[in-house]
Amino acid sequence: MNVEYLPLVIEEATEVIKAATKILRFGPNRRYPSGDHAGETNTEALSMEIGDLVEVIDRLGLPSEIIERGRDKKQAQLKKWGPQRSDSELDASLAELREKS
Ligand SMILES: [Mg+2]
Repeated sequence: MNVEYLPLVIEEATEVIKAATKILRFGPNRRYPSGDHAGETNTEALSMEIGDLVEVIDRLGLPSEIIERGRDKKQAQLKKWGPQRSDSELDASLAELREKS
């Protein structure tokens, strides 16, 4: 693992959070008036920041098989709890959890 990239991962993750927050506050199509993303829409700025983040994550040199395991696990969680689920599907997932506990 290339630990020297961790500060950059933290920095870029923070920039992703900031760009995502702009979308929540001002919408996806509002343009940045100034700064590093001047003239870009909030969606474009978020996309750029995610690109920055993916690049520095790749440079960490983490084991790809474990990253894939994490992605598989997250995909399963999203199937159960993702935002596209209807209220009745979420209720069914909660009921299933209650049965198991
Ligand atoms: Mg950045």
